[in-house]
Amino acid sequence: MKFGGSSLKTGECMRQVAEIIISEKEKKAVVLSAVTGVTEMLVQFISRTRSEEDVDAFMKQITKLHTDLIKDALRTEKGQAKTMEELVAKLVKLERMLYGSCYIEEVNPRIRDYVQCFGERLSVIMVAALLDEMGVKAKAMDADELGIITDGEYGSATVNLEATRSMIRPKLMKSLQDGVTPVITGFFGRAPEGSVTVFGRNGSDYSAAAVANALGASSLEIWKDVDGFMSVDPRIVPSARPIPTLSYDEAAELAYFGAKVVHPMTMEPARAGNIEIRVKNVFRPEAPGTVIRGMGKNGDVGIKSISCMKNMSLVKVFGEDTGYKLGVLEDIASLMTKAEVNIYSVVTSLTCIAMLVDKKDVAKAQKVLTESGNLSRMETHSGFALMCVVGEGLGHHKGLASRVFKAVAKEGVNVGLISAGASLVAFHFTIEEADLERATKAVHEELFGC
Ligand code: ADP
Ligand code: ASP
Ligand code: MG
Repeated sequence: MKFGGSSLKTGECMRQVAEIIISEKEKKAVVLSAVTGVTEMLVQFISRTRSEEDVDAFMKQITKLHTDLIKDALRTEKGQAKTMEELVAKLVKLERMLYGSCYIEEVNPRIRDYVQCFGERLSVIMVAALLDEMGVKAKAMDADELGIITDGEYGSATVNLEATRSMIRPKLMKSLQDGVTPVITGFFGRAPEGSVTVFGRNGSDYSAAAVANALGASSLEIWKDVDGFMSVDPRIVPSARPIPTLSYDEAAELAYFGAKVVHPMTMEPARAGNIEIRVKNVFRPEAPGTVIRGMGKNGDVGIKSISCMKNMSLVKVFGEDTGYKLGVLEDIASLMTKAEVNIYSVVTSLTCIAMLVDKKDVAKAQKVLTESGNLSRMETHSGFALMCVVGEGLGHHKGLASRVFKAVAKEGVNVGLISAGASLVAFHFTIEEADLERATKAVHEELFGC
């Protein structure tokens, strides 16, 4: 069972989470995110070097936020005091690292990852204490100590499932046999050489899938503040409908292209272990939510959902006869890899290769491509958004693309780069960011009638 930061906002939310955990009678492990906003605070703080005064003020702020929550969540003074003690022991480690970074005047990827994961180290202590207070034995566990093993890539690590299984399974099984519910930190693991590495923002869903895989669990519940995956981001279209079932591929494409309900990598450990994922709402536990599983022949093959991404830019590189020359795409892709730029989409013509990248990566892409020296010209265009339509069997749905583009055109919105056919379950296109809301509403209305 995994609970996200938005389900841990207040003491009352935390008690609701504890009640959901307690009402599950099967043996279970729990994985948690940081309390909402805490990772963002840590990420912002460690984005540059700081002074001692900055560290002091920051530590005060983060301590107060958690102290207030403990007082709000736990009923007994004894419980509150014991939890504070455990929390302070973790906060001291964070403080020391922040001072260290401030004295050596350096923030490197290793320090950054080490600092970012403290929100989770704090939230597991609070929820384990709350479960204890409510009469259920629970133990807070840090993923690095427990043994979630990663490939060591700072900022966007991948779990080594085999190594992780052999490290954590015996410990978790023992805990379960002893009747103690493990409450494990999401978001990070330990590189083979020992350093902390995070899985990228929203990575706790992925941690939970890795734990479920290691345990050979039959199901993974991901608890959110929405009724599961919806037909579109409900913040853009309030009439969005919950989706009852998705295949692993559909969920992965949706998550990758902007439906930030679950981390896109979550589906891999689940698929590998044939584990059913249920996305449920903490505030409406009776709602069915979304089930994500392998899609058999009789799967549900309609159009399921639309996802969107803002802040996209187009990088166009021109060269004579680009289309005829062998290896041009390979050269460009390796330059982009060197610059650590992710390419979301690529379309080529005789003279041009157009790539869709995150706006924040444009400068890096520009630099590395210019330095390579063998392109005749480059253009960058920003202010784009991407819209992705997802559904198993989309590749065989006649007339779907024309319905989508007609709906967009009716709003007077221009379509830029189009990509279809790469995935059998998704196609996407770009529009101007300013048109996103209008276009999304129009496509949702066309496909779902609301
Ligand atoms: P947590 O951090 O608690 O795990 P998030 O806030 O990261 O959860 O993710 C849940 C949010 O994702 C929802 O509140 C919703 O606004 C947003 N969201 C974006 N796209 C979708 C979608 N297609 N379906 C459901 N929620 C979506
Ligand atoms: N706390 C991390 C984040 O905010 C991981 C997560 O919530 O899943 O991105
Ligand atoms: Mg999140």
